[in-house]
Amino acid sequence: MRYFDQATETMSRERLAVLQIEKLQTMLAELWGRNAFYTDKLKKAGVGPDEVRSLSDLSRLPLTTKHELTADQAAHPPFGTNLTYPPEAYIRYHQTSGTTGAPLRVLDTEESWDWWGRCWGYVLSGAGLTAADRLFSAFSFGPFIGFWSAVEGARKIGAMMIPGGGRDSPQRLELMRESGATALCCTPTYALRLAEVAREKNFDLHALPVRATIHAGEPGANVPATKRRIEESWGAKCYDHAGASEVGAHSFECEAQPGGIHIIESEFIVEVLDPATAQAVEPGARGELVITNLGRLGFPILRYRTGDVVQVNTDPCVCGRTFARFQGGLLGRADDMITVRGVNVFPSAVENIIRRFREVDEFRVTVHTMRHMDEMDVEVELVEDADPNTVAAIGQAIDTMLAFRPNVRLVPRGTLPRFELKAKRFHVQRG
Ligand SMILES: [Zn+2]
Repeated sequence: MRYFDQATETMSRERLAVLQIEKLQTMLAELWGRNAFYTDKLKKAGVGPDEVRSLSDLSRLPLTTKHELTADQAAHPPFGTNLTYPPEAYIRYHQTSGTTGAPLRVLDTEESWDWWGRCWGYVLSGAGLTAADRLFSAFSFGPFIGFWSAVEGARKIGAMMIPGGGRDSPQRLELMRESGATALCCTPTYALRLAEVAREKNFDLHALPVRATIHAGEPGANVPATKRRIEESWGAKCYDHAGASEVGAHSFECEAQPGGIHIIESEFIVEVLDPATAQAVEPGARGELVITNLGRLGFPILRYRTGDVVQVNTDPCVCGRTFARFQGGLLGRADDMITVRGVNVFPSAVENIIRRFREVDEFRVTVHTMRHMDEMDVEVELVEDADPNTVAAIGQAIDTMLAFRPNVRLVPRGTLPRFELKAKRFHVQRG
C-alpha cells in the first residue's frame, strides 16, 4: 500500500484531533487582525482567536457561504477582503467555473500553493502512483484550479507530468501512446469521451500501459456504473477524488477502494450539518458537508457550507489509513436534488441506472412540468449497431428504481453536447 505521508495517514484519531486543533489555532492567530473578512466575521460572532481550545468549540465559529465570498469580492473588487497578506504575497490566481452565479476568484501564496500540491500528493499516492509513473493530463489549462493542482501533486511524488492541452482527442490518445502514459487525469466524462473516440478510431486503449485513471472536476467516479464503465474501457482502476476551488483538494480514494473517499483530515476539518438547522447530524447520518481548511492561510476558509451531501464513516479501512471517509463519495448537491412526482432524486442515481447500459455513449435528462404533472425526458445516444430494445429497457429500469416512467428517446449520434469539464446532463425546466 502506498502512502504520501504514512505517519499522518495512520495516526490515531485522537492524535489527529490534536493536530487539527493545533493547526486551527495557528490559523486563527495568523488571520486575526490581518484578514479583514474573517476578523470581521469573528468579531460579529463574538469569538476571539484564543477561545477555540478543542474541536467542540468549532461550532462557535461562524459559517461561511459562497454568496458571502462573492458578495465581498463584488464590494471590494477584484479579490475581496479574504486575504491575510498584501497582494504581492500571492503567486497564483484561479477562479471557480461560475456555473451558479459570479465566479469566485481565489488566490494562493507560495506556501498555500505548496499545500495544494501536498493535498494532491495524497490523491496520487492514494491511487498507488509513484515516481515511476507518467501522468497524462487530458486537459487544456485555464483558470480552473483542479488540474493545475494535479500538476503540483505529480511534482510532489516525483511522477512525470505529461500535459495534454492544445490538441483534440485523437491527438491526445496518440500522445499518450508515444509518451508511455501510465495514468490519466481528467473528468470522468472525458475519460468516457476518449474511450468513445478510441473506439471510433480503432485505437486499442487496453494496449496502453495506463493502470489508473484519476478524476477531478465533477462527480461520476463515485457512481458505480460510471466507474465500472471507465474501468472496462481503459482496463485500469478508476479513482474518485473531491475538492473545490474555494477550499482545496480534500478527499481521495485509496487502492483498497472501500466504496468511499478518504478525507485528508490532517489538512481539513469536516462537519456534517442538517442543511435546514445548521446543527450537527448524528454521527454517520447524511447531511451537508461543512469544511474548514487548515493550510491555506492566505485565503482561509472557516466552516464553509459546500452544499454537498455526504455521510461520514470512521470505521478503519483495510488500507490502514485512519482518515475517515465519505461513504459513496459526494452523494450529490443539496440544491441539485430534483423532485419528480413526489420522489426525491439525485442526478447521480439516474446516471447510475443509465450508465449500466453499455450501449449508451451520452445522455441528457430534462425534467419539466406538463399539465401539472412532472415529466422526465431522457435523450440517449447509443453506439453503432446497438440493440434497438435498449431505449425501452432504460425506461423500464428507471421506472423500477424510481417508480416513475420517463420518456426515453433515441437521438442521432453526435446530437448531444460533449464535455471536457463540468458536464451538464441534467436540466430542470419548471414554469
Ligand atoms: Zn482506505
